[in-house]
Amino acid sequence: MSQVLEENILKALATIIHGDKNIVEKGMVQGLQVQDGHVVFAIVVDPQVGAKAEPIRKAAEEKVYAMEGVLSATVVLTAEKEPGAPTQQSGHSHGHKAPPQQGGPLLPGVKAIIAVASGKGGVGKSTTTVNLALALHAQGLKVGLLDADIYGPSIPRMLGITGEPSSSDGQHLDPMEGHGIKCMSMGFLVEEETPIIWRGPMTQTALMQMLRDIAWGELDVMMIDMPPGTGDVQLTMAQQVPLTGAVIVSTPQDIALLDARKGLNMFRQVDVPVLGIVENMSYFECPHCGERTDVFSHGGAREEAELLQVDFLGEIPLDIKIRETSDSGHPIVDQDPTSPHAKAYKAIAKAMWEKACAKLEAKAASAPKIIQ
Ligand code: ADP
Repeated sequence: MSQVLEENILKALATIIHGDKNIVEKGMVQGLQVQDGHVVFAIVVDPQVGAKAEPIRKAAEEKVYAMEGVLSATVVLTAEKEPGAPTQQSGHSHGHKAPPQQGGPLLPGVKAIIAVASGKGGVGKSTTTVNLALALHAQGLKVGLLDADIYGPSIPRMLGITGEPSSSDGQHLDPMEGHGIKCMSMGFLVEEETPIIWRGPMTQTALMQMLRDIAWGELDVMMIDMPPGTGDVQLTMAQQVPLTGAVIVSTPQDIALLDARKGLNMFRQVDVPVLGIVENMSYFECPHCGERTDVFSHGGAREEAELLQVDFLGEIPLDIKIRETSDSGHPIVDQDPTSPHAKAYKAIAKAMWEKACAKLEAKAASAPKIIQ
């Protein structure tokens, strides 16, 4: 069934002409996946063409979506040196930085890049990232936020951003903005309900595209909300993006289950400094009686951080207000900036930023000096 659908999809796509040939003949359609009526593929274009190829992407998506048996169609544009060249960047060399990417440095106007990671999903990584980004903004920094959690892009909703990004120069997409944070997410390009069945290599090309083809401009810091987990996709991202450092979010429970350790080891493997661990859903304060209940064993992260010789950045309680505010597009740091929870996020953000600045200074000091 899906074999037939695949052939029909390629037939439909062969009616889209680019230059002298159709896009299938030119080898521009790559990574086609069909699963239960959900179709995902990439269109590879010349980097010179870049975002100008958006109409091709759109046409391809509409063509496929209109086909019988197709429930959703997700098409990403990706730029490679030559159409038809492999989009693969898979495989990783432990302990070594990946070779520099084609097409110039990534994010040249961005001073620091901080990844927020977690050993598994659902620990509050995105909620933490958004609130930390807002806390940095409240400190007066220019902040960008890249939602690379391609499996569940929730940042646009948390920042209350809707609509689609546009391009003012016709070549690069402009980031969207919410509560003063510049933001880009797969969520802008993909419907929230669409199940995304990205393969690792496609995820990476999509991420690189979001780093390279977006007009981010000058920023003090770019936060990256990583996909949960510590698989090959995450490892390759950690290798390919010039990260200043990483922060690991975990619940007391997943610290006990050692998931946080995996995250830590992943960054250490690729020489990315871990700026610290944040314990989320650390404890629960009853909204009625004010009694504090440790849902999991509270304080695990602090002890674990000591054992692992990594800094403990702070703890955030499990509180319905944190959930309600972020899920409704007004995270607590923005909505109630003087509340105890907002203050806790601000303290964590301050500690994180100081550590990131120290890393940047150390890097600058160790860089070869040019003597004239
Ligand atoms: P992840 O990015 O790790 O998958 P999310 O940030 O999407 O997790 O959080 C999952 C759910 O938990 C969301 O509904 C979010 O609002 C909620 N949540 C996150 N942190 C807290 C917290 N400290 N207190 C209460 N709810 C939280």
